[in-house]
Amino acid sequence: MSEPVLTFTDRGIYCPAGDFFIDPWRPVDRALITHGHADHARWGHRHYLATESAAPVMRYRLGDVSLDTIPMGASRTIGGAKVSFHPAGHIPGSAQIRVEVAGEVWVVSGDYKTEADRLSEPFEPVRCHAFITECTFGLPVFKWRPEADIAAEINAWWATNAAEGRASVLGAYSLGKAQRVLSLVDPGIGPILTHGAVEATNAILRDQGLPLPATTQVTQDLDAKNVKNPLIIAPPSALGTPWMRRFGPASQSFASGWMALRGVRRRRAMDRGFVISDHADWDGLLWAIAETGAEKVFCTHGYTDIFTRWLKKEGYDAHVLETEFGSEDADEVSQEAEQVPS
Ligand SMILES: [Zn+2]
Ligand SMILES: [Zn+2]
Repeated sequence: MSEPVLTFTDRGIYCPAGDFFIDPWRPVDRALITHGHADHARWGHRHYLATESAAPVMRYRLGDVSLDTIPMGASRTIGGAKVSFHPAGHIPGSAQIRVEVAGEVWVVSGDYKTEADRLSEPFEPVRCHAFITECTFGLPVFKWRPEADIAAEINAWWATNAAEGRASVLGAYSLGKAQRVLSLVDPGIGPILTHGAVEATNAILRDQGLPLPATTQVTQDLDAKNVKNPLIIAPPSALGTPWMRRFGPASQSFASGWMALRGVRRRRAMDRGFVISDHADWDGLLWAIAETGAEKVFCTHGYTDIFTRWLKKEGYDAHVLETEFGSEDADEVSQEAEQVPS
């Protein structure tokens, strides 16, 4: 029996034939990175490899690291392995990583979303023998509505607040979700203001040519109380903090897949929750897994036990894989550190 294409170590997912790791959580010599979120692109590796479109955000977040890039879809030989990166549809630049050794193909999904948006390269299923899938929202209760419906809800909420003299504050993760929300809102309702952490990412993605509406960063010099009908996009960590006082009376909302859970909505004490996620829902996960044609499936971060049991019943050779990938909450924590002083 030859060695498996990928093995699972305490430092992360490892390819013995190519001597590299994928999204490792402890420092390694060579790390292939699916995308720039904090639980996947960590500090401390000697060499990084990521897609060209993921690189600018990674450089911003990780600083001056040794980062090599590869175009989406192109392949490269590393030792005895052939690797290539394929669109995961999660955030701009996010990729699934395909690893082929002696004709056997394994794919690491990273985080993925099956519904296309206007910013991320749309998800493409990759045929493989073994698929390592996330399952952040791997419960049947998670069933996303079409993006256009959520856009209409957000715009109606903003317009109502504007008519009643309230500011609209929307919490969204600064990398990915914030820009997706920006691409959905109607700038005709009023000006769009941004928290510094969101605006920093906007600037990077605009430089890459992604279409985003005009936004104004909230700074000390901005007389926020006198801006009429504003929509303010801020990381979740800024909600309910003194940073928000400058806007006067405001309605607070949060855009996240977790808003589908009533308990989370209540704990967050939001006026509104918009159910929109950069991860696949239950149907999306099952569709994506079927499309790979894989017999063997490993499930990482999320409802791994329940989801794995379901896959077994469906006839897959399914396994839970313990990793240190977080949910989006890991990004939220890292973004607290990112907050600009108010
Ligand atoms: Zn992610
Ligand atoms: Zn993740």
